[in-house]
Amino acid sequence: MFESDYKWSSESDVSPPIRGEDLPDFEGWVNFNGFSSRHPAYDYAAYLTDGGKCCVLGLPEGTPVRAVADGTVYQVILDAPPYMRIINIEHGEVGTGVISSYGHVVPSVSYRQKVTRGDVIGTLYKDPGNKRGRLVHLHFRMYHAWGSVRCGVNRPADPALVFSRLDSFNAEPQSEPSFRITELGDDVSIRIANFEELELFK
Ligand SMILES: [Zn+2]
Repeated sequence: MFESDYKWSSESDVSPPIRGEDLPDFEGWVNFNGFSSRHPAYDYAAYLTDGGKCCVLGLPEGTPVRAVADGTVYQVILDAPPYMRIINIEHGEVGTGVISSYGHVVPSVSYRQKVTRGDVIGTLYKDPGNKRGRLVHLHFRMYHAWGSVRCGVNRPADPALVFSRLDSFNAEPQSEPSFRITELGDDVSIRIANFEELELFK
């Protein structure tokens, strides 16, 4: 491992791991588990208006997941506890440890495969081993120095600082069966949906 000039920032040449515009009735993204030291990740759950009615949180199974930047597949993990399937992609020069990580994804790429920004690398599925898997979502992480010997720890980056408009809507309380989206007020109830297929939500 070596230090690299390539680090995640708001200047990074990235595109989103899921395209909101591909989803019917898309309004915005909600990180329903929040970004914290215990959960250094952005859980991509779409806030959808359900044909103009309010309000649904979830993503269709089979939603394409895309590489956020050019890179090389660093790991494809099929049995990480709790049964998450994870794809890790390294960006910049090999050995930098600059990583984007995609959880709850059925991979369509393999180890050491080169990918280009926007390439589909897998699809979302409902993960039965995920206690929070009531909601089909992408567990997305970014690291500045994955596995760095010098640092001793992986250094997570907050995706909301790299991608714009990821903090427009916030769920509260987080990690609970029922919650509200604070920006929508108290009188709006949220329905959790797990769509079996993308086509069903057209
Ligand atoms: Zn998560």
